[in-house]
This record gives sequence, C-alpha cells and structure tokens, in this order.
Amino acid sequence: MSPRYLKTASQTATTASAPEIDVGYIVKGVIDDIRQNGDAAVQRYSEKFDHWSPKSFKLSKEDIAVAIAAVPKQTIEDIKQVQAKVRRFAQAQKDSIREFEVETEPGVFLGQRNNPIATVGAYIPGGRYPLLASAHMTILTAKVAGVPHVIGTTPPIAGKIPNSTVAAMHLAGADEIFILGGVQAIAAMAVGTETVRKVDFIAGPGNAFVAEAKRQLFGDIGIDLLAGPTEILIITDETADPFTVATDILSQAEHGPDSPAIILTTSEKVARTAMAYIDKILEELPTAAIAGTSWKVHGEVIVADTIDEAWKVASEIASEHVQVFTKNPRDALEKISAYGALFLGEKTCVSYGDKCIGTNHVLPTRKAARYTGGLWVGKFLRTCTYQEVRDAEASGELGRLCGRAARAENFEGHARSGDLRAQKYLNDEYSW
Ligand code: NAD
Repeated sequence: MSPRYLKTASQTATTASAPEIDVGYIVKGVIDDIRQNGDAAVQRYSEKFDHWSPKSFKLSKEDIAVAIAAVPKQTIEDIKQVQAKVRRFAQAQKDSIREFEVETEPGVFLGQRNNPIATVGAYIPGGRYPLLASAHMTILTAKVAGVPHVIGTTPPIAGKIPNSTVAAMHLAGADEIFILGGVQAIAAMAVGTETVRKVDFIAGPGNAFVAEAKRQLFGDIGIDLLAGPTEILIITDETADPFTVATDILSQAEHGPDSPAIILTTSEKVARTAMAYIDKILEELPTAAIAGTSWKVHGEVIVADTIDEAWKVASEIASEHVQVFTKNPRDALEKISAYGALFLGEKTCVSYGDKCIGTNHVLPTRKAARYTGGLWVGKFLRTCTYQEVRDAEASGELGRLCGRAARAENFEGHARSGDLRAQKYLNDEYSW
C-alpha cells in the first residue's frame, strides 16, 4: 500500500515560492543595479519595496541607545536569557570541532585549524514580524565562532525601526547595524557600496526574495544555506493529541502564506480530528489570514499504513522542522536522516526551537535538508589543514613517491619538486 492523502497542497512550494511573480528575474535586476550604482540603487529599492529612505541606513551609537531604551525591561531580560541558552549550545558545538595535529608517520605532522571568517553579514528577517530571535541565531553564533566583524541588517517594520530587533542585534554583539531589508540588503553586503562594507559570508533566513538573492550571489560571497519560507512536518501515531497537533501546525503556518505544513500519521482518526481543530482555531487566531492561507494552499495530510512507511515518507519530504508525536519518538533519530531539526515528543515543539530553547533556528528549506543541516558555529569557521615534514629521510621518501605519482599524471613540474628533495635528503640523482 502507498500513503493516502486526506488533503493535498494546491501549489508546490519552490525556492522562489511566489509562482505568480518571477522572483529570480526581479532579484537579478536589483542585484545588477546595485552592483553598478551602489548606494543610489540601494536607496531606490528600499524606497520602492519598504517605503524606507532615511539619511543613513546604518544606526549610530545614539540611534541604538534610543532604540534599546524603548524596549520593555522584561523583553531585554528575555533576550538575554535566550541568548545565554543559544551561546551555551553554540559553544558546546564549537568545542566539538577539534583542532588537532597527528604524526602520520615518523617526522610527518598533519594538522587542522579552525579559522573564523573575517567579515560576516547577518540578515535578520522582519518584513512581517520582528524576528529578533534570528539575531541570536546569526550574530551571536558568528561571535561565538570568533568572527571579528559582524554586520547585522534587518528591514524596517511598517516604516519604523524595529526596536526589539535592534536590541537583540546589539546584545548579540553586532559590530554595525543597518535598517535595510530584502534583496537590497543582501546585495549591498555581497558586492559592497560606498557605505556598506563588502562581507565574505552572509548568513540568515528570509522570504523567497532573500533566499533567491543569496543563491544568486553565492560565489561573490559564501552563504550558510538556503533558509527560505519555513516548513513543518508532524509525524504521529494513534497516541498523539490532535489538539496539540493542530496548534503546532498553525504555529508554523503563521510565518507566511507560503509555509508548507504537513501532518503525516498512521491514524486517520488523529488526522481528521486535528484537521477539524485547525479549522476551529483559525476562526479566532489573530494571525489566521496568513496561517489560513498557508494551510489552505500548502497544507497536506498524509496517512501511512505503518510507522516504517511514515519514516520513509518523512525522509523523502526532508522538511525543515519535524515534530514526532509517537509512542517512541526517539526512534526517529535512527529512522529519518533528512530534516533540518527534530523535535521529539509532545513536551517539545518547533516554537521552542524558534524562540528560546537554544538550538539554532536557521534551517534548510525546500528539501535542502537532503544535503545540509542548519546554521551552526561551524559554518562561520574555515577548517584548514597544514603540514610539516620535520624528518629529512621522511621528506626524501615522500619525494620519491611524489615523483612517481606526479609522472603517472604527466605533471613533470610536480615530480621535480619531489625529485629535488629525494636528491637533497637521500642523495638520489636527478634524471632531468
Ligand atoms: P524578510 O525580511 O525575509 O523580507 C522582507 C523584505 O522582502 C522587505 O524588506 C522587501 O524588501 C522584500 N520584498 C517584499 N516583497 C518584495 C517584492 N515584491 N519584490 C522585491 N522585494 C520584496 O521578511 P518576511 O517577508 O517577513 O519573511 C520572513 C521569512 O523568513 C518567512 O518566510 C519565514 O518563514 C522565514 N524564516 C525562515 C527560517 C528558516 O530557518 N528557514 C527562520 C525564520 C524565518
């Protein structure tokens, strides 16, 4: 038997997830213009897309102090508490990537060092909501990695500076803060303008325009991953609470009208009850206009015959967030391999990951989980190798091997570097 669909998506989400608009074409036009015309073009697009054209996109120290003073004390305390959790997990990840040196044979030393990237641009989304948690995930994680210069950029919300996001960016350790959104922010940091420093690497989530801009600019800069419109997959068996399933599905559908939300279950009863709850919650949820559109257009409900079939389908979906509400949720660790982040059991949920638990919420979307995990401290580090041959005899032996290996590939220049050392340290004769 194959899985049955109780509800199918009426539109497939792609990287450029607004099918009625050619996102790739729009993004290319903005990037080309900013490449040629710098700040003048940045100003024009900020005005066009965000109705935002201040004298300077960069906040001064005084601007930052004013923004922070406007944030409620409790919010500042909460930002600090969450950042402490994010820092703790990021530090544990950093400690897990060992720098080491090994003597692979007598006198031959090979090693690896983790060198932080020099300049990073962190994009904090904010077109719809002040996503201040993204500041912890990007800026703070880069700082834990040891990045010396981090630029944080976020769009205005309804023509205003998002004070709480600015506070989070500052407390996370941003060296410069810009109020600038979308493609114009990504392009300015990637190519550099008169007022925006060119960075080496851009990290952070965003809508389809932001994700597409990062994709097109990859090469000019490095990128973390394509972290576009958010996704949720909830796997359940008959033990799941349908009301919790419904609540958690809508927690992600409210991100944007293009967020896929999928229930995958072995229990048709759980599925049908959860669907009824979703309709009921949407009658009063303040964000129902967005969440309802997302659910209607991109929502799916799949019934599998067995839990093994459900694991298989889940791996094919490769969703950004996977919640597991089954008898033995930890089975998922062995059974599914393609996901951005797993949330095991009913006591945890994606909202914890998004807002406060301490793991990174910048995660792969649109099946990118097939080839990458989410943002983490390692993405800001360049793991580089080095080698030193201290022993003369070892160098001579390597020289002989290098000479033969290189000539097998017709590389005479390489071979002579080896020959020379075999001559110096083992008294071999040149044959050239
Ligand atoms: P955003 O900051 O990503 O995008 C806002 C910007 O989009 C605006 O500044 C504007 O310049 C640009 N824009 C809007 N319409 C445009 C158009 N027609 N043409 C050109 N540019 C246009 O904020 P958002 O829109 O609220 O989206 C945030 C996104 O981030 C959501 O989709 C959410 O799901 C996603 N997200 C993903 C992750 C992840 O890890 N995958 C995490 C958090 C958030």
